[in-house]
Amino acid sequence: MAKQTSSCQYLPTDQQKLGIPLIYGENVSHVFEAKEQVTAVDHVAFGIAERNITAIIGESGSGKSTLLKLIYGLLEPSSGEIRYRGWLVPTRKDKLIPGHDAMKLVSQGFDDLNLYAKVWDNIASQLPNTNLERKASRTQETLQKLKIDHLAQQRVADLSGGEKQRVAIARALINEPEVLLMDEPFNQVDAAFRDALQQDIRHIVDETGLTILLVSHDPTEVLALADELIVMKGAKIIEQGPPQQLYYEPAHSYTAQLLAKSNILSVDQASSLGINVSSPIAIHQEDIAFEEHPQGTFSVTDIRFRGFYKELVLADGQLSLHAIQHPSKNLRIGDKVNISIRRHIVFD
Ligand code: ADP
Ligand code: MG
Repeated sequence: MAKQTSSCQYLPTDQQKLGIPLIYGENVSHVFEAKEQVTAVDHVAFGIAERNITAIIGESGSGKSTLLKLIYGLLEPSSGEIRYRGWLVPTRKDKLIPGHDAMKLVSQGFDDLNLYAKVWDNIASQLPNTNLERKASRTQETLQKLKIDHLAQQRVADLSGGEKQRVAIARALINEPEVLLMDEPFNQVDAAFRDALQQDIRHIVDETGLTILLVSHDPTEVLALADELIVMKGAKIIEQGPPQQLYYEPAHSYTAQLLAKSNILSVDQASSLGINVSSPIAIHQEDIAFEEHPQGTFSVTDIRFRGFYKELVLADGQLSLHAIQHPSKNLRIGDKVNISIRRHIVFD
């Protein structure tokens, strides 16, 4: 049976669909009627499982934020339908206060926070004054859950990006939504603090059964966090699956480039490496083995320092490939190498 959190979640004319995922979209489009019509989401279908962390990934402008707003009910689909627990998601025309009652959206850039108020007040203000004792204890609990209780009396404006993001999440979670939606949540969080924040988010999901749907244009940052990825390109969903599956067996070259910065080769280029195929292939950077050799067929044309590894550009005159070099090796620009391909991915 559907959980009835509030009556205005349901449209009187709607009938619940059973046997579908927690959040479910069918044939969903959204056209912005600006000076020119923009189709931001184009006939997409998706299913989002309960208690999972799902990430919508794709390049900038691919329609990720629009899809998130459609799911929350801030925008109305131009075609198709979106259902939550089998019920149509109400939109602005059905509901005075926009946004689904069972969900909370953490928008981009801390828009919802009052920067000049204290952390405590930003969070506590989400609760009614009907029970002050409960208000204080819930606020304290939520601060602890996000590990920001020591910041309670500070102004939000004085916090780091990572701390602000924790406040924004605490504020969204204090009323115990069933679904947390986040648009580019790690954008303004320093890489060094991302892992800890992601671990805490994972912890909250495991502990409370929360469902999370987030958006990211940098999928490498969500590979470790997400249970499921939805890949968007040009307003379409091109594939959906667990991160490891999409990383090792992507169905589209776009996904291989997005997740692995993979080398994409045409049929002819593949054949020049002795790989005979009838459609383009991808070779992940870590699947190119190379060895220095005075008569090597490839030479090192560029070296990009990436911290704990170096990205080498290896070229043989017609083909240029990106490969990963362990820091213990020390090739220089101009060195000759022979290469071998450990693994390649074929696209139909
Ligand atoms: P993403 O979040 O993946 O970067 P968006 O969903 O924000 O992409 O945008 C998808 C497309 O819709 C883009 O071409 C964008 O310019 C357009 N778009 C987004 N919001 C509006 C709007 N309010 N009016 C007109 N076009 C918009
Ligand atoms: Mg966006």
